[in-house]
Amino acid sequence: MAVTVNKITKNLTRIRRDIFDACQRTGRSPEAVEVVAVTKSVDIDTIKNCMKAGLTNLGESRPQQLAERFSQIDEYLYGRRKTDPVSVKWHMVGHLQRNKVKQTLVAADVIHSVDSLRLAEEISQRAEADERVVDVMLQVNCSQEAQKFGCAVGAATHLGEMICSMRSLKLTGLMTMGPTNGDPEQTRRTFIRLREIFEEMKHDKIGGDSFSHLSMGMSGDYIIAVEEGATIVRVGTALFA
Ligand SMILES: *Cc1c(COP(=O)(O)O)cnc(C)c1O
Repeated sequence: MAVTVNKITKNLTRIRRDIFDACQRTGRSPEAVEVVAVTKSVDIDTIKNCMKAGLTNLGESRPQQLAERFSQIDEYLYGRRKTDPVSVKWHMVGHLQRNKVKQTLVAADVIHSVDSLRLAEEISQRAEADERVVDVMLQVNCSQEAQKFGCAVGAATHLGEMICSMRSLKLTGLMTMGPTNGDPEQTRRTFIRLREIFEEMKHDKIGGDSFSHLSMGMSGDYIIAVEEGATIVRVGTALFA
């Protein structure tokens, strides 16, 4: 069953208040933090309710589902374009294999999960063929857990530089996942590490003005992430439960 607009609004209000408080504590501007609604575990009516609650940044973690939802929502918005013009931005947040790039590019406005040179090259080639420039973020494995995706911390700067050299890619920031054990201190260290890499890259003049985002924090750790500089939090459970 779909999650109601009322419930989403209530949850979103709480999340935004948490973000506001975390910003107050750390002297940041709350406007600098975007909420991406990760809709992978909810149905299409719930996604429509997200939009009614004012959420226009939507995220999916699997290419197939992203493509399906994109076209369903696109059709829905097209039907409503005269009475209620809304545009949404789709974020690909999950692991991406090269053979799914083509499908992903049909739907995604931004890909958070670029973590290898070969994947970056594949996206760049496809984007070039479509004569477009794709916003991408570099995913870094800051928690250094073996099973996780993301490039190694030591490889991030070089890979970032390579991405910036590709004309059909625009590097808009860095992404990481907190440790799966959820330990708050380890989580904080993970997010601090991503921010440090970001600052090192900025210092080295890698990425232009558009290199400005830190995508970090999910339902269980977005408060810590905002305290440590997140500009994009990717939230599912906390919005829908
Ligand atoms: C599922 C997912 C999220 C959201 O997770 P919640 O814990 O439900 O908030 C965020 N980022 C990625 C990459 C995900 O796969």
